[in-house]
Amino acid sequence: MKKVIIVRYGEIALKGLNKRFFEGKLVSQIRHALSDLKEIRIYKAHSRIYVDIADHDVRDVTDRLKKIFGIVSLSVAKIFDVDMDKIKEVALRELKDRIAYDSSIKTFKVESRRGDKKFPLQSPEISRDVGAYLLKNTDNISVDVHNPDIIIYVEVRDRAFVFSDKIDGFGGLPLGSNGKAMLLLSGGIDSPVAGWLVAKRGVEIEVMHFHSYPFTGERAKEKVIDLSKILSSYCGKIKLHYINLLPIQKEINEKCPAEEMIVLSRRFMMKIAEKVGKANKCDALVTGESIGQVASQTVKSLYVINESVEMPIFRPLIAMDKVDIVNLAKEIGTYETSILPFEDCCTVFLPKHPVTQPKLDKILKSEAKLDVDSLIDEVINKMEVEIIDVSD
Ligand code: ATP
Ligand code: MG
Repeated sequence: MKKVIIVRYGEIALKGLNKRFFEGKLVSQIRHALSDLKEIRIYKAHSRIYVDIADHDVRDVTDRLKKIFGIVSLSVAKIFDVDMDKIKEVALRELKDRIAYDSSIKTFKVESRRGDKKFPLQSPEISRDVGAYLLKNTDNISVDVHNPDIIIYVEVRDRAFVFSDKIDGFGGLPLGSNGKAMLLLSGGIDSPVAGWLVAKRGVEIEVMHFHSYPFTGERAKEKVIDLSKILSSYCGKIKLHYINLLPIQKEINEKCPAEEMIVLSRRFMMKIAEKVGKANKCDALVTGESIGQVASQTVKSLYVINESVEMPIFRPLIAMDKVDIVNLAKEIGTYETSILPFEDCCTVFLPKHPVTQPKLDKILKSEAKLDVDSLIDEVINKMEVEIIDVSD
């Protein structure tokens, strides 16, 4: 029997006049994600998107759709010409298939929607008729309208739809509906999650990574590529910028107090990301900082780091606990890669006692000993750029 995937998108539907814009973005994301599959048909109707998957593997398609931001839930529905006997038969098959797969299902409920007002039965009548038929033709299962183990959905529109499952999407807004930001991506647990959260709100992401070659090696680079690939499976094409921070770290090491190393290099990172970001039409920076997680993330440090740039810095993890960040990292699939060992550029000149309560005037005085602008230009001139796209 023919199957169609029903895509629901909640929040976008609330966007008033912008609704069409957001729907258009979502449709183009879906089209892109399925572009290698022939004969797929995508159409909009009833404030939803329908994906006619032809003979393609349902699981493969739903796995891809689940990663598209803006989708609240999916259902794989059987679709056929409207006919009450056929509806009952298909609903029964659906229920039996589900019970065969999961023997803990003991109660059910039928929920109906009548989109075609010419259809003679109203929604409650459809539910009652179908429900009675299911009860008569099954054993050991009863109706529970309040808390059923399974819901059989019946929709009567220009055609009939029967389905029983709603697969959760991540929600959010479709990519490309909300500008672009530069993510500072280390090899750690936090920054990929931060980038994912911002991308989920429809923001396109570029990535910047700082290394200290030859102190840091190929492995660190591979890790950043792997993390970018995982992000790209949600965000599409990602432009990755590598910056060798070593010349700057050497200068700081030579001319400034050792304990200011981290704060000063973070300020440089922000300035470099801002400059490259501006040139690439980014309007914000994104970091994985979270209050109090490490010495450089006290409120005072964050203040001093923040002051280095004019561009807003988005810190979606700012008030999250580490366990919750870790759980999210596991859910989105970045955790396993993030915990692989690697050399971080920040450990190269790591001071024994970094300042945890830096004072802005003191940091600015130290920074004044450096030729900030030409150092920044020097490392940007040697920047390497790579395009990451898992859909290639
Ligand atoms: P993460 O898990 O993201 O590495 P963290 O808890 O280790 O974060 P820090 O090392 O203090 O925290 O880094 C804070 C933020 O600064 C990171 O989340 C990231 O956005 C940015 N950052 C740190 N190091 C780098 C780097 N080498 N390249 C790019 N961004 C970096
Ligand atoms: Mg880190």
